[in-house]
Amino acid sequence: MRHSTFVFVFIAALCLLTPMVRAASAPDTDVQRITDLIAANHILADQGVLDGFGHVSVRSVKNPKHFFMSRSLAPALVTPADIMEFDENSAPLDLKGREIASERFIHGEIYRVRPDVQTVVHSHSPAVLPFTITDTPFKPVIHTAYFLGYDPVPVFDIRNVEGADNKMLVNTAPTAAALAKVLGNHSVALMRGHGMVVTADTVPWVTFRSIYTQQNAQILLEALKLGKVNYLNQYEVNRADRVERHWDAWKLEAAARGLK
Ligand SMILES: [Zn+2]
Repeated sequence: MRHSTFVFVFIAALCLLTPMVRAASAPDTDVQRITDLIAANHILADQGVLDGFGHVSVRSVKNPKHFFMSRSLAPALVTPADIMEFDENSAPLDLKGREIASERFIHGEIYRVRPDVQTVVHSHSPAVLPFTITDTPFKPVIHTAYFLGYDPVPVFDIRNVEGADNKMLVNTAPTAAALAKVLGNHSVALMRGHGMVVTADTVPWVTFRSIYTQQNAQILLEALKLGKVNYLNQYEVNRADRVERHWDAWKLEAAARGLK
């Protein structure tokens, strides 16, 4: 190889590798987590996982008992000024007269018992709802939903905690603690007649899991109309994906539709 060609190839390789190195070494700070949290709100609204309701949160690096979440607002509209900090009892540190989500306890009680969980999504995704109200098990059928695990995704029924006369909302700490117990070590739990909770260790990952949980539900619903379903087996659920390319593409798609 001629010297000039070698230099060109070396510089080209450096240009390609630099963004990867930078992404891998990006410091994990509260500022970065909040930036990702805002992007996740917009992506999940854009992808139809979150409607006007539903929320995303992320644990604080500085104080791991606390978490950040938007004030009560449609996820598509969330800006940095809307992000609030909540303590270990899901109480806001600085309310400033703002309205807050009544179901914020879902996040606080999952963080309390799952130190591995850094971020939580609560969604009313319509695609998963049929699996919350029937005895048809919700299991992964596509390779991108492997994180659902081999066993059926657990279903939380608020009647088991609050009885027949309940408001269908997980808006107290004891009910949220019962939901966290049903979640156990799973990445996702369904909620009867209501929706789901999705957990992960980074915001891009919880976004990935939320989108592919919804997609798995859509595909499984179609497959059940055709006949016997072939689910992933116990080996096929043990895999891993890279999230970066999805995350960057979803951000661009959301931004192209005016969500920044
Ligand atoms: Zn809800």
